[in-house]
Amino acid sequence: MFDIGDKVWVANWDKGKRWETCPHCLGEKHLTIIMGDKTQVSIDCVCCVETWRSSGKIAVYDYIPNAKEVILDGYEVKSEKGEKKTSYRSDCWGFDNVFATKEEALAFALAKIEQQKTEDKRNMEYNKEKAGKTWAHNATYHIEAIKGFEKQIEYHKSKLAVAESHIKKEAE
Ligand SMILES: [Zn+2]
Repeated sequence: MFDIGDKVWVANWDKGKRWETCPHCLGEKHLTIIMGDKTQVSIDCVCCVETWRSSGKIAVYDYIPNAKEVILDGYEVKSEKGEKKTSYRSDCWGFDNVFATKEEALAFALAKIEQQKTEDKRNMEYNKEKAGKTWAHNATYHIEAIKGFEKQIEYHKSKLAVAESHIKKEAE
């Protein structure tokens, strides 16, 4: 617990975004799927899709820990689920992660970053799994649609053939 006028260290981290080649399509933007009957189909990579098109790149995040020294000019004690939580203030900014030393603040920031990295990784795995299902689904869907249209084409062709034979008969 700190008091007004105390010099403290606030733990924080910066988030940087950079682009990496998509690990699924290796920047190719599409994937080849081999179906059960050995038919090969090419389909857009859904892992690196940006709005509408596959870009071949995915966003990765870097985190840089930092600690800033501030002088407290206020605090607020809140009760959350039976636990007391102190929120500190300095220059109108609110801080939750306040420490007595720079080392403690940096250690906290690093721990938070590790937590975030694990979460990013989990999200990536989840997307990969979801993408796998989508690819299979999309490929199956398009193949079924083609089969359906082929059947319709056959049907319409056969109707036309019948009509043609009628015309021929009348002409004879
Ligand atoms: Zn991709």
